[in-house]
Amino acid sequence: MKKRHTFVCWNCEETYTLMREFIAGQVLNVACPFCGEEGIVDLAPYSQATEIIYRQTAAQESSVPGVELPDILSTQPKGR
Ligand SMILES: [Zn+2]
Repeated sequence: MKKRHTFVCWNCEETYTLMREFIAGQVLNVACPFCGEEGIVDLAPYSQATEIIYRQTAAQESSVPGVELPDILSTQPKGR
């Protein structure tokens, strides 16, 4: 499921939004539209939270609101 996420550039610190599909534990590749620098967003820290959310919601309703990510995801320089 693609969703609009907000990112903050590691280089110029501008925030921008991109439609991205969230896959738990994956690393997203992003490119800043302001300065053009590429960056990565490590989603591994959120994969555990995802499982907890799914378990909680499974007992309640079938409409899972997706992954609970921070409002603004911070990016990191590539290759570190
Ligand atoms: Zn930038």
